[in-house]
Amino acid sequence: MIDLRPPGAVRWICRELEEAGYETWAVGGAVRDALAGRPSGDWDLATAAPPKRVRRIFRRTVPIGIDHGTVGVIAGDGVMYEVTTFRRDVETTGRHAVVAFADTLDDDLARRDFTINAVAWHPLRKVLHDPYDGAADLEKGILRTVGRPEERFAEDYLRVLRALRFAGTFRLEMEGDTWRALVGAVARLDVLSPERVREEMEKILTGREPPSAALALYAASGALAHRYPELDRQVGWAQEGREGDLWSHALRTVDLLAPHRPALRWAALLAGAGEPDEGEPTAAGGDTPPVPSPGRRGLLRAAALLERLRSSNARIQQVAGLVEFVRRPPGAEAPDADLRRWLSEVGRERLPDLIRVWIAELRSDELVGHRGEGAWDRDKLEHLVRRLRATARAPVALTTDELAFSGRDLIRMGYRPGPRFGELLRWLLDRVLDDPTLNDRETLAAEAEAWMAARDEEVG
Ligand code: ATP
Ligand code: MG
Repeated sequence: MIDLRPPGAVRWICRELEEAGYETWAVGGAVRDALAGRPSGDWDLATAAPPKRVRRIFRRTVPIGIDHGTVGVIAGDGVMYEVTTFRRDVETTGRHAVVAFADTLDDDLARRDFTINAVAWHPLRKVLHDPYDGAADLEKGILRTVGRPEERFAEDYLRVLRALRFAGTFRLEMEGDTWRALVGAVARLDVLSPERVREEMEKILTGREPPSAALALYAASGALAHRYPELDRQVGWAQEGREGDLWSHALRTVDLLAPHRPALRWAALLAGAGEPDEGEPTAAGGDTPPVPSPGRRGLLRAAALLERLRSSNARIQQVAGLVEFVRRPPGAEAPDADLRRWLSEVGRERLPDLIRVWIAELRSDELVGHRGEGAWDRDKLEHLVRRLRATARAPVALTTDELAFSGRDLIRMGYRPGPRFGELLRWLLDRVLDDPTLNDRETLAAEAEAWMAARDEEVG
């Protein structure tokens, strides 16, 4: 007998189903985690009862995926538990599996991906059913597929990414054949939908465990090069003023950021993405077209990656906006006007997140003793952060909307609205960023009049 101490509701659901005559087990991730002594996430149940029976046996249910046999049962604790009828795969495409209902728990366990995930535990009898020795693998710290790894990866290539996540976050050694088959399967990752690939990465970035080990396995297996070239190009990329490559710095930094802020973790991963490729022009020559700055290049690459993954627009803007500025802070001793100008470009609202990433980068440098040019310096960063926070809080105009003078004032002065309004307001903002004392309506009205007059002269 072995007690995995599930929530009471798991035992209640199991009892109801068994009393109705249907064998029911706790399966999958929660059993695995409980066996490993980790806090268990969602407790899933597998049952011989068909979905329609499950819906009739419980008062409060949600049809989550009736076709797939999954019914959500809302228990007395208000939590929803997924109850899924035993299934087996009847057809696989590499992208997903077509499933059919099965008769036995053993059928159901046979279609699961890794031995550590193919474990079942009976919540009433408190016995483990573990036909592939998953508990022993967990104990020994080994990740292996159920059955032949080539076949199992080819059935659903998402298992490649799941293996990298499990091995990385649970610190498991990949069994030799599983690893060889995985590396061989990486080239087929292109068949997976962007959404599934993204969700896998999000699990790494929002999980309890530090993401770096799983990400390092992405790089080692070739999966990073295949689906995340913007990240892979940082592997082995030496950086000025730091030892080691951009990638190892990014991995240390990611671990130092909070799991509930995946956007910041994305920004840390992509911070070095703006480095120019070899041979890529970095400055505009005589006849060459304008070249994007490293900040701009980073922004474009971050946006390209996240768009490919079909991330939300909000996420893309947040991450790309951080990537644009994270590697171009103003100097700690720069004049106030430069800080205002920088903050005006960045946007006040973005400052707290940028500071979070900078501090993580500083701590990453400190972990490996990096100092000097290119690396962060604690005193300088603290000084800069103090000054930027003070600037952001100060009642100074950083946007044209915050000027003491507006387009409405221009109309009142008799000017007709047009594109030059915007141009003028930006020019006024520029003056005010230099000298905040200019920001009163009369002064700016006089400045505006002079600007308009000079403009008319130019045109005339
Ligand atoms: P986590 O919830 O941390 O992702 P998990 O193992 O619980 O880990 P789920 O996606 O919740 O993963 O899936 C629950 C169970 O379903 C797994 O433990 C595994 O047995 C099985 N499973 C999930 N995805 C696959 C897959 N692509 N191929 C085979 N079995 C799978
Ligand atoms: Mg789960």
